[in-house]
This record gives sequence, structure tokens and C-alpha cells, in this order.
Amino acid sequence: MDLDEDQQSSLDDVKPKERVGHAFRNLKELVEYISGKPLGATVAEDAGLSEAIPFPFLGIVGQKEMKLALLLGLINPAVGGILLIGPRGTAKTTAVRSLLGLLPMVDRSLCYYGCLPEDITSGGMDGVCPDCARKFLEGHPLTAPDRVRLIELPLNARLDDVVGTIDEKSTTPIERMRLRRGILAQADRNLLYIDEINLLADDIIDAILDAAAQGAYTIRRGLVSATYRSRFVLIGSMNPEEGKLRPQIQDRFGLRVIVRGLQTEPERWEAYNRVRAYLANPRQIANTYKVELRAAATEIQDARANLSLVKISSRIAKSAIKIIQKLGIDSLRAEITWFEAARAYAAADGRKQVLKEDLFEVAPMVLRLRRSAFIHKFFADQQEEEKEIINLIGGLH
Ligand SMILES: [Zn+2]
Repeated sequence: MDLDEDQQSSLDDVKPKERVGHAFRNLKELVEYISGKPLGATVAEDAGLSEAIPFPFLGIVGQKEMKLALLLGLINPAVGGILLIGPRGTAKTTAVRSLLGLLPMVDRSLCYYGCLPEDITSGGMDGVCPDCARKFLEGHPLTAPDRVRLIELPLNARLDDVVGTIDEKSTTPIERMRLRRGILAQADRNLLYIDEINLLADDIIDAILDAAAQGAYTIRRGLVSATYRSRFVLIGSMNPEEGKLRPQIQDRFGLRVIVRGLQTEPERWEAYNRVRAYLANPRQIANTYKVELRAAATEIQDARANLSLVKISSRIAKSAIKIIQKLGIDSLRAEITWFEAARAYAAADGRKQVLKEDLFEVAPMVLRLRRSAFIHKFFADQQEEEKEIINLIGGLH
């Protein structure tokens, strides 16, 4: 029996998930709830520890859109990267680093060459290295669960660091034939964070964009070549005072968040108190949010697991595309990101159907900064020229 799309979506219950002791129903509510959680008194502690305890994600005051964008990126890597644009001192880097407490688990290859079971599905036994082929036949797993990692690209990274190179320090000829994995290969199935992305050298940006587009990249050094998987969520942050981002790079970022300083006096006062408390005793601040962070991490993992079940109806999708057209946006990445972000949002709410409310919630961060005055003028000029050509060739005889 074929169901009408509306009937179908009414079959998906918008039932609040039951949770003991918490008033939130989805990630957005959790973010709102926790952003208002006051801190208790803190006791300064200086044990001389050098262990880095990140500021807890849910302890960041305000900045709800930034938090939501980062959570959507954790739930659905297909949102296509997150760009945080704002002046210094607006907690951009703090927010990205604080994701450490929320990172979900993924299946990761146990092999140096990164072989995966799906390589056997698609390419047979020749799709993996001899070691993995043997393991597979003996019934041993090729992957193990591992936490998603946050990899930061240093601004002074060289191209060799980014894509990998021949290991010149190794002593045996065999090892020298092996290529050292670059940051892009290490970023596979992880988050790749680039602060001040607008200041990065062009050759490095190009390598990153290529890898992001293909999900893999190949390097050749003399006779040796290797292809690495490189499927990552790119997170970039930039201060617009310090230079522009090439449009080609900006288009790669699905979600764009304008991060402004906190607007109200109470928010700024609360943020000041939390930062002071964190500097005095990071462990205690981390503990304050432990329960909620764990709940949020479980939410994210569940949402990731359910994501493949979440559908968007053609009726809702078409009306969204109409809006994109009305805005004069050409890049197809607009709708790809919009639908993927809305699917992640619906998954976080425990639903299997995207509602228009989901599209509504994520729309600003998807649609802003996509219109190009240049392209608009370019097409208008081009149409004029087209007309002129048609007119003139009418005079051919
Ligand atoms: Zn292998």
C-alpha cells in the first residue's frame, strides 16, 4: 500500500524520549537547558597537573547556533563542514576543543593501509592487503570501534605534513618505500579543525579541498604512490578582520555560523565567572557538567545510529528548493547541506521523517553567505551578450 507523504509523516511519532531527571527532548533543548545551568561555588586547586581538561561544551554561555552547528556535524558528517566566523575572544576555538567530551565512536581499520570490510564487498579479496585478506578468511575483524578524534591543523604545517611523505629517517629500504601518513590521512573519519583558515597557504588549502571532495587522495613520491581515505568533517574558524576566504573554500563549508560576542550584561558576567572558575579548577568545572555531557554524548551516538532511517519527503524538499532558487543561490551544496542538516536534527529528536520545523531551525546557518553578487552580475552580463549574439547572427546570409 502506498501512503500519501503526509499520512506517512503522521505515522512517525513525535514522542518525547523518556529520560530520568531531565527536561529536554532533543539536542536543542539540551543545549538551551544546560546553557542556563548556574555554577556552584568553586574551590581553587593547583596540583601542578599538565593534563589538558577542555572547557566543557555545555558550559559555554550562549552561542546556541555555534553549538548546534557543531553537534549537527558530529551527528551527520555529510553536512559538509562547519565555518565559524567571528572576532577574537568569542569562544570559537574553545567550543571546538570542548567537543572532546562528546565525540562518538566509529569503526576504524586496524590495518596500516586502512583496509575496510566494504573494500572486500566492492572489490573482492584484491580490494584489501594480503594481511587483511587472510584475517578476513580466518574470520577476524578488520576494524575495531574507536572514538572520533579532533585533529588540529597547525597554521605552520607544510604540504608534506598535510599529505604525507617518504620517511627519510627510516633505516631500512622497505620502510623507506612506505609513505608516512599525512594529517589528511589521520583525519579520516575524524574532525579536522583549522583555526584561522583564511591565513592558510594556497597549496595546503587545495590539498585539503581535493581530499574533502573525493574522500580520499593519492600521493606520489618517485616510484612510490599511495591512496589514503580521507573522509573528515572540516571545521574552520576565522576572524573576518584578518582577511577573506576564497569563495571556492567557503563553498566547501556546509554550515556557516556568525559568532558574535555575548550581547547581554548577565551573559557576559556569567561567562566571566565560568572562565574564572575554569582557570581556577578545570576538573571541578568538568565534573559540574559530567552527567549532562554523558547524556548529550549518548544522544549524539543514538542519532548517528538512526540517521540512515531519516527521510525527507519530496513535497518538503521541493518547497525548500524553491526558497533556495528565490534566494538566487546556484550551488547545489545549499540543498545537500540543508537536507543533511535537517536529517541530523530530526535524528536527534528521535524521528524518522524530516518536518518543516527541522528545515526552519537549520536554515540560517545553511543559507547565509551563499549568494554571490559577482555571479549574479556575471550571469546578467552573459545573458545580455547571448541576446546580442543571437540578434547579430540573425543577420547572417
Ligand atoms: Zn590491510
